[in-house]
Amino acid sequence: MIEKEKHGLETSIIDHRFLKKDIHGAIMMPVYAGAAFEFDSAESMEDAFVGRTGAHAYSRISNPTVEDFEQRVKIASEAVAVTALASGMAAISNTFLTIAYSGANIVTSPHLFGNTFSFFLFTLKSFGVEVRFCDFIDTESIEAYVDENTCAIFTEVITNPHMEVAKLKKISAIAQKKNVPFILDTTLVPWSVFKARHFGVDIEIVSSTKYISGGATSIGGLIVDHGTYDWKKSSKLNAIAAQHGNMSFNVKLRSEIFRNLGACMSPQVASMQSLGLETLDLRYKHASTSCLALASFLRRLSATGSVSYNGLPTDPYHRISKEQFGNSPAGAMLTFSLKNKAACFAFMNKLKVIRRATNLFDNKTLIIHPSSTIYGSLAIQYRQMVNVPDDIMRLSVGLENVEDIKNDILQAL
Ligand SMILES: *Cc1c(COP(=O)(O)O)cnc(C)c1O
Repeated sequence: MIEKEKHGLETSIIDHRFLKKDIHGAIMMPVYAGAAFEFDSAESMEDAFVGRTGAHAYSRISNPTVEDFEQRVKIASEAVAVTALASGMAAISNTFLTIAYSGANIVTSPHLFGNTFSFFLFTLKSFGVEVRFCDFIDTESIEAYVDENTCAIFTEVITNPHMEVAKLKKISAIAQKKNVPFILDTTLVPWSVFKARHFGVDIEIVSSTKYISGGATSIGGLIVDHGTYDWKKSSKLNAIAAQHGNMSFNVKLRSEIFRNLGACMSPQVASMQSLGLETLDLRYKHASTSCLALASFLRRLSATGSVSYNGLPTDPYHRISKEQFGNSPAGAMLTFSLKNKAACFAFMNKLKVIRRATNLFDNKTLIIHPSSTIYGSLAIQYRQMVNVPDDIMRLSVGLENVEDIKNDILQAL
């Protein structure tokens, strides 16, 4: 057999071949839209159900189109197992329901995506899981929060809308010392510039709604397992770790939690997101380059206050970003401030090209005022914890001509 050449990431994603050859020779993975799959014999049906073969039986459990998308993500992320789900939040909830138990705790930052914060603080709490919030920028302080019931150290690769970048190697060293898995939400920085595996991350969570979907075509989520954690050290998974070793998380997830929660990705969505994955690198380059240009532009304007984007050489996270994400600009999202909330609202209301919408990494440039929306319905004590100032707006940069975005900003100011 001829050794397969090592290709660039773009080529590897596009050149990916199906697990089984398509009988018509289709180049694009067909959408296998049905719920159930037929078997030639009762024996082969038994084999499929007890997991002796990889045959598909029912689309909540696995589906050829979804599996093909998972295979492509596996290549892009260099993971050992990937599960595609109905949303980023489904990926978060499935992950933590796989490893958490009553009496367990999660060590994390309070600067989290709004629903993740709410899931930890309210949803998991009612099942006896404690969340321990600490300052992830003061990396040294994290260790003191970890004890024998810590089931994970969790954070986000760039926090949103605080725009902080944590030192991942330092955090993973603490996780390793304390025998705890390190789980990272990597939604904001795609695989073209960042491989979490190289920074000691055991499991990645991604909202594929964002960069991967290919222009906000659909909602989706991914659990990307690097198979690096020794689950014998987990009080919940050690029972199966003797048999399944480093794959114990994936086994528990795929054979129990994922099936029981039923938040599977649909084959139609997998097809759209596969197509999105093929152009991820191209779109990301354009959007992140525009984002850097817009950050420099906003900084020069007299009406704007602070501008946060780690691609700016003046940004406090510029150096750590370069170390972790390389020389290309990191992410295609920035925040900037105006005098106060009223000034932000007046500005937003005058925009013509930039859309007033939530979401990130749409093909369209989107703006949101986070404190009044994403965090708007939180009780006051939690709003203080997440601490999002009300004079900032978040801009997610799309694929328009960057000069048109600049002009839209100028006319609205
Ligand atoms: C959007 C987002 C999520 C949640 O993803 P959904 O697909 O909306 O469920 C989680 N984490 C981060 C960082 C996000 O931006």
